[in-house]
Amino acid sequence: MRIGVLALQGAFIEHEKMLAALGAEPFEIRQEKDIDKAFDGLIVPGGESTVQGKLLHELNLFNRIRDLILSGLPVFGTCAGLILLARELENDKQTHLATMDITAVRNAYGRQLGSFYTVEKFRDIGEIPMTFIRAPYISSVHNDTEILALVDGKIVAARQGNQLVTAFHPELSDDTSVHRYFLDIVKNTL
Ligand code: GLN
Repeated sequence: MRIGVLALQGAFIEHEKMLAALGAEPFEIRQEKDIDKAFDGLIVPGGESTVQGKLLHELNLFNRIRDLILSGLPVFGTCAGLILLARELENDKQTHLATMDITAVRNAYGRQLGSFYTVEKFRDIGEIPMTFIRAPYISSVHNDTEILALVDGKIVAARQGNQLVTAFHPELSDDTSVHRYFLDIVKNTL
């Protein structure tokens, strides 16, 4: 399985390491010609959503990637990646790829709780470590989007078809289960 990792900015190397540890083949998507290569799934990493959104346009990646996701390419967005995939942002007029039927809130935990760690249940997996860094949460899900995890009553993971998002950073822990969950989604499309 070849998994493209959007490598414009942010925490992409950690995703590549985790994918390699699970026997998948990561490759970095940095420019338009990278999209022409064959790949089975895509990871949109954490970082800064406004910067990544701008770069997607400047590098002519935006429409190519959006079309691939809309035609069913499995995608996994973490943190800023969740923001890029959200169809609606409560506190930002500027949406980005907007392929997933969720409403998200950026920097949703305020200054004090900007970054924190917890252990919570993830549907079909069980308890897993969750690292939040100036994270968003999902305030509501729409249509056939399923809720996969909650922290303090706030939605922090969801899935709609082949689109998976987490507000936290599973790539920053030793626990590979969420990446395995994503690779299972990818496998089912092959
Ligand atoms: N606060 C960032 C944003 O709005 C997301 C933070 C992250 O990806 N760790 O894009």
